[in-house]
Amino acid sequence: MRDDEAKQILLMCSDPHPQPLHPQGVRRWVPRCFAATLPQSRLRAKGAIRSIEIKLNLLYDMPLFRPPSEADNLIIQATLGCSFNQCSFCAMYRSKHYVERPLADVCADIRTAAADWPDAQRVFLADGDALALPTQHLLAILRELASALPRLTRVSCYATPGNIGRKSAEELAQLRELKLSLLYFGIESGSDLILKKIIKGATQRRMAEVLHKAHASGMKISATVILGLGGNKHSDEHIDGTIALLNSTPVTYLSTLQLTLDESIAEEFQRKYGEPFQMPDDLAILKEQERLISGLNPPQPVIFRSNHASNALALAGNLPKDKEKLLLQLREAMAGHRPLRPYFMRGL
Ligand code: SF4
Repeated sequence: MRDDEAKQILLMCSDPHPQPLHPQGVRRWVPRCFAATLPQSRLRAKGAIRSIEIKLNLLYDMPLFRPPSEADNLIIQATLGCSFNQCSFCAMYRSKHYVERPLADVCADIRTAAADWPDAQRVFLADGDALALPTQHLLAILRELASALPRLTRVSCYATPGNIGRKSAEELAQLRELKLSLLYFGIESGSDLILKKIIKGATQRRMAEVLHKAHASGMKISATVILGLGGNKHSDEHIDGTIALLNSTPVTYLSTLQLTLDESIAEEFQRKYGEPFQMPDDLAILKEQERLISGLNPPQPVIFRSNHASNALALAGNLPKDKEKLLLQLREAMAGHRPLRPYFMRGL
């Protein structure tokens, strides 16, 4: 790997709002050599916070994505691509075919990573939906992680309605027992109309079912909603359906993203939408956010963030406790008294 490539990966890995660790569309194996910042609580020295670079001598199949909150954690590719790969707004894995990586290769990666970073505590299993793996295969990966990383506290991965639905309650409990305790789940919208238009492959009811099932097994859910998916025409429908789903479903974390269409899929998105789609502007997005937060009365406290790089306005708080504070910040932004993130600083 050239120095400038290594630098690029270093920079993107330390970005608190990633997503791709390499420009999308470039697919190749590159040396895994990136900076991981250890938990700050372990790095305090005389009041100062230092960061430590950990060099991992591994290979990733690019493009690689992970949630913002996994920026400081070890990433192991258990699968490549997404087993569904049909959502019309999502270009993340269009350059990849879904592949279950051989168990021997994944275990070899885990041992190599553990040699470089023996006290890693949190692991994110990439790519798009490692939960699609057969349960015995996934259990074997979790056992290898537990044996190689004695300080392991949490394993997480992306999940879809389909792959949670295909696991029994007993299988989910077995996975949870071996520390797979956090699922990143793209709700996107709770409106059946919008879910159909974006080819999400699930209804509001189905999503509620699988999320309850995962929750009952002891797993935490980190859910995402994409503001703007209803366009100008179906904005209220999009948000009201989403409120209905979130008010009846136990999620621990909730993030909102702002719709941004990669140009490689923009035409396809429009075609599958089934009617002309008008992208909402920032003001309309802030109004959606206001409608969403106003309507949320979740069944358990939710840690809310809109810190993804796509958002015009970053918000953070707990719901319902901080509802009024968040609404005030939104109203200040809508009135022009709070700056929005400039377009050149936004990304997927
Ligand atoms: S399930 Fe997730 S990763 Fe797969 S296509 Fe849909 S949004 Fe993209």
